[in-house]
Amino acid sequence: MTAKKPVEKSEEEWRKELDPLQHHVLRDHGTERPFTSPLNNEKRTGTFLCAGCGEPLFDSKTKYESGSGWPSFYAPMPAATDTVVDKTHGMTRTEVTCAKCGGHLGHVFPDGPQPTGERYCMNGAALKFEEKK
Ligand SMILES: [Zn+2]
Repeated sequence: MTAKKPVEKSEEEWRKELDPLQHHVLRDHGTERPFTSPLNNEKRTGTFLCAGCGEPLFDSKTKYESGSGWPSFYAPMPAATDTVVDKTHGMTRTEVTCAKCGGHLGHVFPDGPQPTGERYCMNGAALKFEEKK
């Protein structure tokens, strides 16, 4: 099973706090349909937080338009995320999870822009945006 995380909640608590799509993505490794998240078009300056625990995960300056239909970033905030090799669906991908609550966020692919060359392909349902005022 997954390593112990600083934020641990029971299945019942998660179901109470998250809406069904957030729960599907964060707790059941689900994927939202592409081009459905309002965060795709979020271009304001601010921070993208984990929808599960509120941990800051991505700075808006690392967000870019990948054309994939999911919010995409070239780098997470330091130590905010963990990665796990995911061999489901007949592919080998690198899953990205929240380091604090273990929630599933999306996957990272090696076809992103510089400076990292990485594409963090995130589910908008796993994120909340906080505008910097
Ligand atoms: Zn979290």
